[in-house]
Amino acid sequence: MIRARIVDDIDDHNATPGAVEIREVEIDGERSVGFAFICPCGCGREGYLPTDPAEQGPRWDWNGSRERPTLTPSVLFRGGCQWHGFLTDGEWRSC
Ligand SMILES: [Zn+2]
Repeated sequence: MIRARIVDDIDDHNATPGAVEIREVEIDGERSVGFAFICPCGCGREGYLPTDPAEQGPRWDWNGSRERPTLTPSVLFRGGCQWHGFLTDGEWRSC
């Protein structure tokens, strides 16, 4: 497993697999949170996981922790390395 290091700006940490930036976003005047991350596999690609129910497409449930976040369901990196796993208690665990 890989520790999900929480960073202020994911673009400063491109080379760190599993780094996570918790982004505050506003959608139609509602505050929401999304998770930008660098793929834990080491391929270097960046992904984004929204938590807002109003957003189109897939979304994830968040346990509310900024130090040790848990997102459900699992994360599948489509179109690239196909990494599949979970962010659980602040750690990436591949399936
Ligand atoms: Zn990858």
